[in-house]
Amino acid sequence: MGYIRFENIVKNFGSTQVLKNINLDIEKGQLVTLLGPSGCGKSTLLRCLAGLETVTSGKIWLDGKEITNVEPRKRDIGMVFQQYSLFPNLTVEKNVAFGLQLKKMSKNQIDTKVKEMLEIVGLGDKGKNYPSQLSGGQQQRAALARAIVTEPKVLLLDEPLSAIDALLRKSLQMEIRRIQRETDITAIFVTHDQNEAMVMSDMIHLLYDGKIEQSAEPAQMYARPATKFAASFIGSYN
Ligand code: ADP
Ligand code: MG
Repeated sequence: MGYIRFENIVKNFGSTQVLKNINLDIEKGQLVTLLGPSGCGKSTLLRCLAGLETVTSGKIWLDGKEITNVEPRKRDIGMVFQQYSLFPNLTVEKNVAFGLQLKKMSKNQIDTKVKEMLEIVGLGDKGKNYPSQLSGGQQQRAALARAIVTEPKVLLLDEPLSAIDALLRKSLQMEIRRIQRETDITAIFVTHDQNEAMVMSDMIHLLYDGKIEQSAEPAQMYARPATKFAASFIGSYN
């Protein structure tokens, strides 16, 4: 059994089935990618894991416990979205400290932890700035710091680099990978960009129309796509 397990997950919106019996195991400490075209159900699957959507049927497990009906803030999951992840009215420091205030920590401990985390994401000198004073890439670094400062069991990244220009995106891909390895956090990265999936992932789970089309390591996915869809989608890799 994986550290995270999706078991027969079905999700309907009204009469439309958007997740069609998803079964997936994710190993601890890996960065795995949910890859697939727009509308195939990637965000919905992440939101089910985070508890932001309820599943229609099926079970979700994390670290040996069933969490299908556990309320979101008790799931111990950090999340970064495409954009607007930060509180605009709080400084970067305060944004990162936000989740720590719910923990039993002194102000000193919080300050130290926040400084440490801002160093890790390369924003050591930006603590006093407001989000609007940062570039898009810096904002996503800050969002990443805020998501992992509480040391959640899982980090969910829903197309976090899609709004970042192409040149900077490459360096941020490497940066996210470095931080994931450094913190040894289990991460699920969502993207529609096969390039991004290829360079970042331990495992790729390719989704198509609410189903897992193929699960493989990047090199294997590239060398041996298992279906026509996988071949054409991965084949546009450049
Ligand atoms: P992806 O992230 O892969 O682009 P989504 O998970 O956002 O795909 O969406 C999958 C499908 O579910 C899409 O057809 C989308 O329109 C639909 N969908 C997503 N959220 C809702 C919702 N709250 N209500 C109705 N339909 C939704
Ligand atoms: Mg999405």
